[in-house]
Amino acid sequence: MAVFVLDKRGKPLMPCSEKRARKLLEARRARIHLLTPFTIRVVDRNVSDCVLQPLTIKLDPGSKTTGIALVRESTIVDTETGTINITANVINLFELTHRGQQISESLTARRQMRRRRRGNLRYRAPRFLNRVKPKGWLAPSLQHRIDTTTAWVDRLQRLAPVTAIVQELVRFDMQKMENPEISGVEYQQGTLVGYETREYLLEKWKRECAYCGAKEVPLQIEHIHPKAKGGSNRISNLALACNPCNQKKGTQDVKEFLAGDPQRLERILAQAKRSLRDATAVNATRWALWNMLKATGLPVTTGSGGLTKFNRTRLEIPKTHALDAVCVGELDTVKNWRKPILAIKATGRGSYQRTRLNAYGFPRGYLTRSKRIKGFQTGDMVIATVTKGKKTGIHQGRVAVRATGSFNIQTINGLIQGISHKYCRIIQRGDGYGYSCGHKLA
Ligand SMILES: [Zn+2]
Repeated sequence: MAVFVLDKRGKPLMPCSEKRARKLLEARRARIHLLTPFTIRVVDRNVSDCVLQPLTIKLDPGSKTTGIALVRESTIVDTETGTINITANVINLFELTHRGQQISESLTARRQMRRRRRGNLRYRAPRFLNRVKPKGWLAPSLQHRIDTTTAWVDRLQRLAPVTAIVQELVRFDMQKMENPEISGVEYQQGTLVGYETREYLLEKWKRECAYCGAKEVPLQIEHIHPKAKGGSNRISNLALACNPCNQKKGTQDVKEFLAGDPQRLERILAQAKRSLRDATAVNATRWALWNMLKATGLPVTTGSGGLTKFNRTRLEIPKTHALDAVCVGELDTVKNWRKPILAIKATGRGSYQRTRLNAYGFPRGYLTRSKRIKGFQTGDMVIATVTKGKKTGIHQGRVAVRATGSFNIQTINGLIQGISHKYCRIIQRGDGYGYSCGHKLA
């Protein structure tokens, strides 16, 4: 992974290789600033002495995991042909795992506990209509997705000289597909429009043959009202058919072909007319994220899911959230994508409630008023050098504090219990995220 570099005043410089970072640290020209993501601070450099190249953050927002890629994009214009070639040089890859499910579960649990407590009241009419949700309100589990993603965009902006953001916004680019100028050739696979059309039709026709309902067979794009009889190339005139049905139908109109099956005919005609909008499922969360990203002041460009998949398949890149993020937007070549991915897991900063409840909603135990014990807090990364007793050795990991001052440490080799705070030293404060580094892809 590339190492983030800051200047002596903490302003971001270009990220460097691990080897270069090691040399700078050995020569004592740099200090460690942050362990994850690994960041050094060069003590003898100022941002004004350095050449910065523009970096781009690319985002593939997902419901459970968001892929984040930091790339250096370069555009080369071929002077002879005038074609533009956009190359993305991958610098770092991240996968941010959200905890929407956990948030929604704990809110449900809280609501049920409160309801049970009030259960012995008789029905009482609401006193006032004070439950109006503000405009643009999103459920807490969805709002959390936007908050954590923008928090990481902010954080990367502080660590690297970011100049642009690219986000995957919609699943299908409807404008491209509705363009009546597109000729039949372009509906072939292998072109972008063909790709998006195909993906869209697969979604719309539920991945089965419109005429016989066959599943998991190769499907062909088919004109409902045949081209030979003046049918258009518009997306509303396209359906998917298996090879036998397509052959059998030939240049017949759908009404002729399905004369013996009026029910299916009616269903197909209704499905073909169905608005494009409900199949694209405009995603409120992605739009809200887009608005938040625009607020950073950086130029935000968007791409469609069809384009992402088209790029990824064409460049023969395996499917992971982070590599999907690399493939978002306009792109011709990708370099150095075989990199380890830093997995970031949103863990939260512990519970706000200070009373634990049992399964019946009765108090089970009380947590300390203050989350911090002897200067440590659950979630901090610590290193414990134990000099005597059964647990002698060096243990490094995430600490869970207890009021007694005897802590548990979650190391990569397992949980070590009952380590005194006297042996512990903080190496990184808890920031609401857990980190692990995935392996390099083959
Ligand atoms: Zn069929």
